[in-house]
Amino acid sequence: MKPFHAYDIRGPYPDDVNETFAENLGRAFARWLGNKYPNKKLSVAVGSDVRLSSPSLKKALVAGLTQAGCDVIDVGVVPTPVVYFASVTKKTDGAIVVTASHNPGNDNGFKLCARDAQCISYEAGMHEIESLMDEPLVSVEPGTVTNVDIVPAYIADMLSKTTVPKLRIVVDAANGAMSDIAPRALEQAGLDVVPLYCVPDGTFPNHEADPLKLENMRDLMAAVTEYQADLGIGLDGDGDRLNFVDKHGKIVDSDLIISLLARTVLKQQPGAMILSNVLASQTVTDTIKQHGGTTKTCRVGHTYIMDLMREVGAAFCGEPGSGHYFFADNYNYDDALYATLKVLEAIGTTPLHEAVADIPRYKTSPEYRPTVSHEQKTRIVNDIAEELRKTYDVNTLDGVRVQLDDGWFIIRPSNTQPRISIRFEGKTDEAYARIHDLVETLLAKHNVTLECT
Ligand SMILES: [Zn+2]
Repeated sequence: MKPFHAYDIRGPYPDDVNETFAENLGRAFARWLGNKYPNKKLSVAVGSDVRLSSPSLKKALVAGLTQAGCDVIDVGVVPTPVVYFASVTKKTDGAIVVTASHNPGNDNGFKLCARDAQCISYEAGMHEIESLMDEPLVSVEPGTVTNVDIVPAYIADMLSKTTVPKLRIVVDAANGAMSDIAPRALEQAGLDVVPLYCVPDGTFPNHEADPLKLENMRDLMAAVTEYQADLGIGLDGDGDRLNFVDKHGKIVDSDLIISLLARTVLKQQPGAMILSNVLASQTVTDTIKQHGGTTKTCRVGHTYIMDLMREVGAAFCGEPGSGHYFFADNYNYDDALYATLKVLEAIGTTPLHEAVADIPRYKTSPEYRPTVSHEQKTRIVNDIAEELRKTYDVNTLDGVRVQLDDGWFIIRPSNTQPRISIRFEGKTDEAYARIHDLVETLLAKHNVTLECT
């Protein structure tokens, strides 16, 4: 299965991911699309991130796609959401981004989408593409390649849908694919932008392009106070997720950002359906209900969210912990820049920390992710679910989740790693301590301890 993962293809270059692989992938993807959308001249939007190996991988990928008869729209070196935008607005049959998101600079990979920027998970189709990788090339009329600068249209589209205050914002693009575009778009929106690490550099010389890790946020936190900015954003390597910092240089918890956005969406679209996932704080559900919205809980994972958004006609979904925010009025996909504009629109001229001050907060654990083996992770969670069933009402949508009067907990197998993912919350310190002990006891029976690594 290597380098195929649950949601994308990723691995070290050139060992697992190289030009031969990219060309075969192009052909296999074209073949797969041909089966999905038969008797049609196929088109695919392609773009790449700033990694040093991206240009040659993209060239090989495009060669594979065109050999198999696909027309390619190449949008250049861009963040992932720009490729999604190209795909939905140019109505292509598929999209591929050459990126390894926040992985180290010597890794690379691919994100694959069908129509409407619908990401293809391993389960939903990548396994079929994998099995087509070694098929011989059938002789067809080769496809064409068109280079398109879609960034101006991408920015204009986003700005036409949002009204934002004139604030000072520090943008840490981690030298990733948003380096040029985020400052440009936010300046066009009327903001005073202080760029930090906004020079594209595929070696990621300043810090890893993962804003969910505290050590990657420290320079941004310091810069926000140093430049007396109103807020700061830390973007990931391919620009589909982010983390927010308030004017005091403090990270604003993603559950609060989701609640803030949910509240604003509900003001604009009363009664809307807002999704949250099984890891979300009770704060999110309470906020949605308080403001007249309806909600449904979703499994963890990009493709499940995008599927459910369309299925139930949801207006918004935020993924706690990961920093992905999906909006129906932005084609249902996740885009860090659009999420920034929506947060700015939500706060107006109120400082971010004040705008979230009245959102109820409970004592919430971090997401613990102890390591087990791939074989063990599901068995352990199933055993725990069996045991809990004797005493509690259990929800097994994704792992096992138990809702109590004064809190909740979830124990689930990680989708992508040999780990168990655990989160819990209590309405009071006392409830938190009790639930913590309960979870610890359940895990101890399987020789698993809570640990953050
Ligand atoms: Zn990403």
